[in-house]
Amino acid sequence: MKKGRIFSGARPTGRQHIGNYLGALQNWVRLQDEYDCIYCAVDIHALTSMTDTSQLQGNIQEMVLDWLAIGLDPKKCILFVQSHVPEVAELNTLLGMITPLSWLLRVPTFKEKVKLQPENVNYGLVGYPVLMASDIVLYKATVVPVGEDQLPHLELTREIARRFNSLFGDTFPEPQAKLTRYPLVIGLDGKSKMSKQAGNDIEIALSPEETIEKIKTAYTDPARRYRSEPGHPDKCNVYKLMGYFDSTKTGDVAEKCRKAEIGCVECKMLLAEVINAALKPIREKRAELAADPKYIAEVLADGAERARVIARETMVEVRKNMRLI
Ligand code: SF4
Repeated sequence: MKKGRIFSGARPTGRQHIGNYLGALQNWVRLQDEYDCIYCAVDIHALTSMTDTSQLQGNIQEMVLDWLAIGLDPKKCILFVQSHVPEVAELNTLLGMITPLSWLLRVPTFKEKVKLQPENVNYGLVGYPVLMASDIVLYKATVVPVGEDQLPHLELTREIARRFNSLFGDTFPEPQAKLTRYPLVIGLDGKSKMSKQAGNDIEIALSPEETIEKIKTAYTDPARRYRSEPGHPDKCNVYKLMGYFDSTKTGDVAEKCRKAEIGCVECKMLLAEVINAALKPIREKRAELAADPKYIAEVLADGAERARVIARETMVEVRKNMRLI
């Protein structure tokens, strides 16, 4: 007996990096045994900041390939692409009619996006939280895994669901937050969150050699200039990354670093070794899955079909409750 239904989505950014893996995907894999999980590549959301869609399909493929390689199992969860269930667009329109504009304008991420893309402040950008709410309530998700920073977004979804229910009768569950402590994975530059745009990431799908080359560029303890100087592992991102993948190594490394018994080059090679060992089975599975190009399409088509069964049912109820039929 599963504990409830979870919905979560990610923008199709292509190949996933270890920040995605440690931050969300490992958790998704764990949750699929406890909940009915629906995981979605939110391609419509991506359009709010993308006008060139030439990479979109490729990005979806690569992302889902990583999801499957990491251990998401289409027999245990639903994996699909947001736009393949068009009911979400209808619900987005209807929820848009009951969501006060003032609620959307106060969302901090909207203001941030305006600053980030002043040349493309589109209608969809301000409505982003309504589309997010539509995703969640369309599938009647009861639980949404979120980091603390995403709580205001989920609260808005709850407010929209509450408003709908009060106007048209009980229709949607108010989804509960499942607070998840995602580690904030800092990229190889040692200062900003790991991301593709920042170019400070390590993609899961890299070869072991490419991983070594990437890690060679990593920033370490900024105060340690020479091999002979003692280092400060607590201020070193290489050390932190090592801890995420193999905490059995960190005690020894910290001690040697503090006594200047290990150099950063050697330490980075150890990190590469640890990451390559942890990702080996994922990379092997990825290569196996990639050899059958039809497989991803089949998984996503099946996922969309199963998601659509739920979505259609919800929309009949929504249209009835709103007296549209
Ligand atoms: Fe960081 Fe390792 Fe260098 Fe110490 S030896 S500063 S832990 S990379």
